[in-house]
Amino acid sequence: MDAEFVIIQRYFSAYQQRTGAAGDDAIVLGIGDDCALLRPPADELLAVSLDLLVAGTHFFADADPVGVGHKALAVNLSDLAAAGARPAWVTLGLTLPATLDESWVAGFCRGFFALAERHNVRLIGGDTTTGPLAIAVQAHGLVKPHQALRRSGASPGDSVFVTGTVGDAALGLRAIRHGPAVAKGVRDALRERLERPTPRVAQGLDLAGLASAAIDVSDGLTQDLGHILTASKVGARLWPDRLPRSAAAAAWPDQDQVLAAMLGGGDDYELCFTVAPARHAELLARAARWGCGYTKIGVIEAEPGLRGERTEDGSRVSYAMEQTGYEHFITTDSAS
Ligand code: ADP
Ligand code: MG
Repeated sequence: MDAEFVIIQRYFSAYQQRTGAAGDDAIVLGIGDDCALLRPPADELLAVSLDLLVAGTHFFADADPVGVGHKALAVNLSDLAAAGARPAWVTLGLTLPATLDESWVAGFCRGFFALAERHNVRLIGGDTTTGPLAIAVQAHGLVKPHQALRRSGASPGDSVFVTGTVGDAALGLRAIRHGPAVAKGVRDALRERLERPTPRVAQGLDLAGLASAAIDVSDGLTQDLGHILTASKVGARLWPDRLPRSAAAAAWPDQDQVLAAMLGGGDDYELCFTVAPARHAELLARAARWGCGYTKIGVIEAEPGLRGERTEDGSRVSYAMEQTGYEHFITTDSAS
């Protein structure tokens, strides 16, 4: 592959020349100097989030580079969505093996820029270096101070909701690795959720100033909801039999695996959020335009911890739930 500066020129500076900073007066200076210079609006907060994707850990080294480019940006836009922030700018750190084919970079850029353009996000800089394949994206968004969504803020009585469907990405991973035989259409649909997640940007903007707390589901529903509960110093009752299941998940042969994926599987990038009862009507009105839908899956309670509730012989039974999810680092060293 060509030297780093050639790659930068060919793929990143050229991108800026193509798209310019048109329509974004806040970019005083973009790619090409030592720093980008930005002028954020005086009345908004800058929301900043960074995600690292490492080949072999977060994506398969031989995965389609278009999908990798898409996902590298999507997971960051998902964090902005969970903060209720409007995506604005991104920086991109790329570590590329010297042996890598340049067509990989071209594919990566196709996936990355297609999603960036859809959300009006500008690439304003980054760094490119040689090494094991890894990608860092830092996203910058804007949000009105009193509208920013946090993990804290959920109160007893608030309803717990999730957008779209959960568990699909984890089933997609199973389908690739060692899953049971499923119809091609089912496998493709689940893989699509794993490799091309849709960040719920519009939903996050609608929830800004409305939800009492929010998080994006990256590590698994119970674990991520657990972060809301801890930050808000509350507990919750969850109804596992009401979790939103996609048509593809419903076609999966083992529905126990589906339930486990819905509760503990990561990588769905849906939004889990809480809304006070007094604001349910407002949610209903705003969410009417969401193509992905949303589902009430539980209720916040004062008592800490997560409890499941299911129907047995016609009566509701309560039980303690594990808050497990996807562990990014599996270590044998218990001290680490
Ligand atoms: P420096 O040595 O000052 O860090 P570089 O030679 O690394 O500068 O980068 C030159 C310009 O190209 C900088 O403006 C930087 O932000 C931009 N750049 C480098 N790599 C990327 C990338 N992967 N994506 C976007 N911009 C990049
Ligand atoms: Mg540099």
